[in-house]
Amino acid sequence: MIVAMQEHANEEQIDAVIERMIEGGVNVHRTTGTTQTILAGVGPTSALDIDEFKLMSGVLSVHRISSPYKLAGRAFRPEGTIVEFNNGVRIGGDEIAIMAGPCSIESREQIFLTAKQVKEAGASFLRGGAFKPRSSPYAFQGMGIPGLKLMREAADSQGLLAISEVMEISQIEPMLPYVDCFQVGARNMQNFNLLRELGKVRKPILLKRGMSATIEELLLSSEYILAGGNYDVILCERGIRTYETYTRNTMDISAIPVVKALSHLPIVGDPSHGTGRRDMVPAMAKASVAAGADGIIVEVHPNPDKAASDGAQTLFPERFAKLVEELRLIATAVGRSIASPVAAAAAK
Ligand code: PEP
Ligand code: MN
Repeated sequence: MIVAMQEHANEEQIDAVIERMIEGGVNVHRTTGTTQTILAGVGPTSALDIDEFKLMSGVLSVHRISSPYKLAGRAFRPEGTIVEFNNGVRIGGDEIAIMAGPCSIESREQIFLTAKQVKEAGASFLRGGAFKPRSSPYAFQGMGIPGLKLMREAADSQGLLAISEVMEISQIEPMLPYVDCFQVGARNMQNFNLLRELGKVRKPILLKRGMSATIEELLLSSEYILAGGNYDVILCERGIRTYETYTRNTMDISAIPVVKALSHLPIVGDPSHGTGRRDMVPAMAKASVAAGADGIIVEVHPNPDKAASDGAQTLFPERFAKLVEELRLIATAVGRSIASPVAAAAAK
C-alpha cells in the first residue's frame, strides 16, 4: 500500500499514519522527496482499510501496489532516486557516470596505470574485480583483498570512486573499507541471502541483471536490498543470453527505458559484457546513454590482449578516451552531461 502525504503534511500527521500502518501489521518504508513524503506499507495489506487512511489528516492519496515489487516501483519515489557518493558524484540525476577499469585487478602497476588513464579520459569510478566468478575453476579467480587494497590506493591517487564485485556474504565485511560501491554480478542476481545482507549495508549496490533474468526478476531482486533499508541501489543491464551467437550476450537496450518507466532506481549499461566484443562496445555504450542510462560501466586495460580475464571485450585506453568524448555529444543531445568527480585527489 502506498500512502502519499500532502505537500505540507507535518511530522505529527506522518507519524500518526505510520503508527496506524504498523498497527495494521505492515512494515513501513518512508521516502521524503522534494515536495512530498511517501509511505509504503509492505506485507499483508488485505486487512487494511484504504478508506480509513484516506480520511486521516495530511493524507493526499492511498492506493494498493499491484506490482510484485513494492519498493522498487516508481510510485515509491516518483521523482526518481539519486545515489550520491562522497566525492560529489550523483547517479540518477542529470549527470551520467562513467565507470571504467579492468575486468580483474592483476597487479599494482596495472591498476595504477589504468586508474590514471581512465581518470584522464573522464571516468569517475574505477572498476576492477578482486573476486571473480569464472566459468572454469582453473581460470584466474582474482587477487582477493590484497587486490582490493591496491585498487583503493589507485582510486584514491586519482580521486576516483571504487567499485568491485562481492560474491558471497563472508566477503562483505572485509571489502567494506575498500569499496565505495558493491557490485552484484549477473550470476548472483538471485543469490537472495547475499542480497538480504546487502540490504543491511550502508553503501550503494550496483545490481546486474542475471543473464537469463526478466526485468521483473531484476526488480524483485532489488526489492530484497531495498526491503532491508538500503535504498541506494543502481541497476545494470549487461546483456542476456539469447539464441544469437555473434555476440557474447544480447545487449537489451530496451530494458533501459522499461526500467525507467517501472522503477525509480537508476540504471547503467554495461556494453562490455553486453557484447563480449571490443569493436561493438562503443556503439552499445552510446546506445545506452541515448536510451536514458544513468551511466555506463566499461572494461578498460592498458594492454587488453594480456588481460587475465575478458580481454576480448576490453577497450584500449585510447579508444576509451575517444568514447568518452563521443558520449559527451550523446549526453548533450539527450539534455544531460558527463559527471566529473570533484577533485578529491587534489584535496588529499
Ligand atoms: C564483471 O563485471 O567483470 C562481471 C563478471 O560481470 P557480469 O556479472 O555481468 O558477468
Ligand atoms: Mn568482466
